[in-house]
Amino acid sequence: MSCQSITILGATGSIGQNTIDVIERHPTRFRVHALSGFRRMDLLAQSAHRTQAQRVVVPDQARAAAFRQAWPKASPLPQIDIGQSALSEIAAADQTDIVMAAIVGVAGLPAVFAAATAGKRILLANKEALVAAGSLLMAAVKRHGATLLPIDSEHNAIFQCLPPAPNGQIDQSGVRRLVLTASGGPFRQMPLTQLATVTPAQACAHPNWAMGQKISVDSATMLNKGLEVIEAHWLFDMSAAQIEVLIHPQSIVHSMVQYNDGSVLAQLGNPDMRTPIAHALGYPARIEAGVDMLDLATHGRLDFEPVQTERYPCLGLAYQALRAGQGACIALNAANEVAVQQFLDGQISYLEIVDIVCSTLDWQVGTSTAAINSIDDVLALDQAARTFARQWRPSSQVSHFASSNLC
Ligand code: NDP
Ligand code: MG
Repeated sequence: MSCQSITILGATGSIGQNTIDVIERHPTRFRVHALSGFRRMDLLAQSAHRTQAQRVVVPDQARAAAFRQAWPKASPLPQIDIGQSALSEIAAADQTDIVMAAIVGVAGLPAVFAAATAGKRILLANKEALVAAGSLLMAAVKRHGATLLPIDSEHNAIFQCLPPAPNGQIDQSGVRRLVLTASGGPFRQMPLTQLATVTPAQACAHPNWAMGQKISVDSATMLNKGLEVIEAHWLFDMSAAQIEVLIHPQSIVHSMVQYNDGSVLAQLGNPDMRTPIAHALGYPARIEAGVDMLDLATHGRLDFEPVQTERYPCLGLAYQALRAGQGACIALNAANEVAVQQFLDGQISYLEIVDIVCSTLDWQVGTSTAAINSIDDVLALDQAARTFARQWRPSSQVSHFASSNLC
């Protein structure tokens, strides 16, 4: 077995650090070629030093200086590159076999696309890239012989429950529908009247998973599950009607596939992202992940319940965006990225997240006729939707839903 070389885009994040944890368990199987970080230069320096990365990518000169400052004096520095184009370069580099796409948001899209165009094995955590550019990305993967393996726990579970096909391809013959499980987040049982005043700290306190702030808030609103419905549509070529969401508070059953004969296959495991990361890194081999083995007797019970649509309106918006088309998916994602950041920064309330997403979707469906034929087209619409979302102000009208054609 030859040693495979890895680039980790978003190495300083939750997925990035879990990836480093898994690859350090397999020093003869994997080595790090390049790592990227954005703000956390101390952690990037520490991670690059530990993994002996050859290259790092940082966003600007100031961060490059911070990286050098944090680097252990006695060791030779890795090559330091700057900016978006360098991210795409390390994702497509000849020296890289595997690309872990773990940047948060559409900011990761150009580099994921570059990896696809270079025919890499892509481990995709960065779901926003697929939501915004699903058809272009899937076409590039196919055209250039790349392999796309899902890291999102639900999609990784579904991938494991589908019939095996060569080269990471999907064989969905006989599949009736996909069931994505959702924990329901920290506000599953909170009285609806209290949602108006929840804080970012409460929204980020996920009951089962330790994750980055953005996906934690998305899990609370369940817009995360909405992004995952769109992600499942592209990964597994299933229509919106074939993708169901089911609340499962324990996060043990990671998702399920229902077949025409009535069989349901599920993948189970403790909620630890090192399982899907190790699955995709080793695929088709099963490698050690450092994860505690699931003990169902200790858990005792697994619960399931339908989604309360009035508690999670963002999920319904995502289904509507998927049905409306690629432009609506771009607007949904862009508006959500803006709204979640504003919520985390204390500028808007929790319930205003759905207002902003809803209004931006309404704006896109009503005004934008732009064709989406390239990544530049995606990024242009993404920017326009962000501008609209940033300018959103609470209306004096009674209900945001009432003023919207879409919501
Ligand atoms: P984190 O916020 O923990 O990490 C995000 C990473 O992206 C960090 O390395 C960060 O750098 C970097 N980054 C942030 N903004 C930019 C930017 N504008 N340009 C380049 N790099 C940037 O997020 P997670 O690890 O939780 O999530 C990463 C992706 O994986 C998301 O798309 C998420 O939806 C998905 N995912 C995550 C799961 C989880 O368990 N965490 C589960 C399933 C999917 P820095 O930290 O240095 O600022
Ligand atoms: Mg998920």
